[in-house]
Amino acid sequence: MQHKIGSQQRPLHIAIIGSGPSGFYAAEGLFRQQEFHVEVDMFDRLPTPYGLVRAGVAPDHQLIKSVTKIYERIALRPEFRFWGNVELGKHVTKAEMLERFDAVIYAVGAQVDRGLGIPGVNFLGSYSATEFIGWYNGHPDYENMKFDFSAKKVAVIGMGNVAIDIARILSKTPEELSVTDIPDHVLDQLHRSQIEDIYLFARRGPMQVAFTPPEAKELTELEITVPVVDPAELKLEYFSEKILEKSQERRVMQLLEFLDTISKNDPASKPRRIHFCFRRSPQEIYGNKGVVCGLKIAQNELFEDESGALKSRETDVLEELDVQLVFRCIGYKVDPLPDVPFDAARGTIANIGGRVVDVDSQKPCPQEYVTGWAKRGPTGVIGTNKPDAQETVGFLLKDNRNREAEAKHQSQEEIVTELLQARQVPFVPFEEWKILDQLELAEGERKQKPREKVTTVEEMLRIIQEKKAEESYSEP
Ligand code: NAP
Repeated sequence: MQHKIGSQQRPLHIAIIGSGPSGFYAAEGLFRQQEFHVEVDMFDRLPTPYGLVRAGVAPDHQLIKSVTKIYERIALRPEFRFWGNVELGKHVTKAEMLERFDAVIYAVGAQVDRGLGIPGVNFLGSYSATEFIGWYNGHPDYENMKFDFSAKKVAVIGMGNVAIDIARILSKTPEELSVTDIPDHVLDQLHRSQIEDIYLFARRGPMQVAFTPPEAKELTELEITVPVVDPAELKLEYFSEKILEKSQERRVMQLLEFLDTISKNDPASKPRRIHFCFRRSPQEIYGNKGVVCGLKIAQNELFEDESGALKSRETDVLEELDVQLVFRCIGYKVDPLPDVPFDAARGTIANIGGRVVDVDSQKPCPQEYVTGWAKRGPTGVIGTNKPDAQETVGFLLKDNRNREAEAKHQSQEEIVTELLQARQVPFVPFEEWKILDQLELAEGERKQKPREKVTTVEEMLRIIQEKKAEESYSEP
């Protein structure tokens, strides 16, 4: 017998791929509306939920990380299931998902670094933001990374919030870092840091930086590090002056004020310095036997392109800097998903307003939706994902209005379990993640830090199995 999809007899079944903020805001949007009965199954390739909140947000920004409390409330709803340790394309295919769900929402973020195509980029000592941030946040993919903090001088390429996060983590003392949830093995290495100078490079000028005032302010509160800039660097060129005359955007004015203030700082006032360097592009990373030992940098000039956008171009004026570590923080890219249309020009999953579309015809692909960075590109803060998810969910609900289907013979939980068991995937439901969560929190409490993360998938699965075995043994 046919039922309306979204009725009690035949709920709307949605799969969300990815359990970061964009995935959880999509789930929230689906649960908030009253028209449809909805069940959500959320999949993540890691056994742990929360995506970038766990593995991307800086570990000294615990207040931001506390947003997971909201996500946990969503996850504990009876109409929600989490399937950790399940990867789309590896354990399950898109076709299998579309067969079993009314719709799939891709909320996979932007997981790859934009490439900095210069010679020497692969020398030992040159790292992408993803590698370094993943490592200090205990992401299993980066567990085995090694960084040599005997370096005295470090270059950070790019001037967005990611670059600022990295510069700040490199600037902190063991005491400042001890209140974070940076894993102990990472702290051990960071504590040995000999870093004295961190150089941040922006290819354009002070008015075009991508970081935000609260992040700038934090740099003025560091114990052993002082932010500095040569006043000559702050002189605006013709085009920026023109923009400033017309618009006094608050964020820009605050950042100019910050830069002006730090231009008066005494570089010798603290043992470590963060140098802001503008209108400079790295040209080449020098190596000695494959290990980074310097950077060739071109000075840039700015120009307006045909669209009026302010761009940079390299001049013949070159500089060299003897750095031993380079961190590349020039933004992220969306990693295409198998069989999912990808818009190479925009660098996102091809979509219009969150409806996935065929790249050529621009016609919607039935049942497929996208939200978050995978939809709009890697911009905005955590909260930006909320309205973004609302838009996607709005289209999804609209497309499912007045559709009918037979009631299912099995529960959705049974359907997914059957599929994963057939593949022998050791999936991790939410209550098993909570075993890990409790253990990490308890270990953190013992060490007087917010949490001590488990950083390998094998260890996560072992802990969960042991705890389950213990519990079943103690049951009468
Ligand atoms: P971003 O904000 O796009 O900044 C990228 C930076 O890299 C810009 O300064 C950009 O300069 C520069 N860049 C790009 N290509 C370059 C190249 N080929 N050579 C040299 N420089 C280059 O990206 P992000 O820092 O990765 O941050 C991603 C998003 O996450 C942002 O929305 C950010 O605000 C957010 N985020 C927020 C926080 C927070 O709220 N605390 C923390 C981390 C990240 P141009 O402007 O000249 O292109």
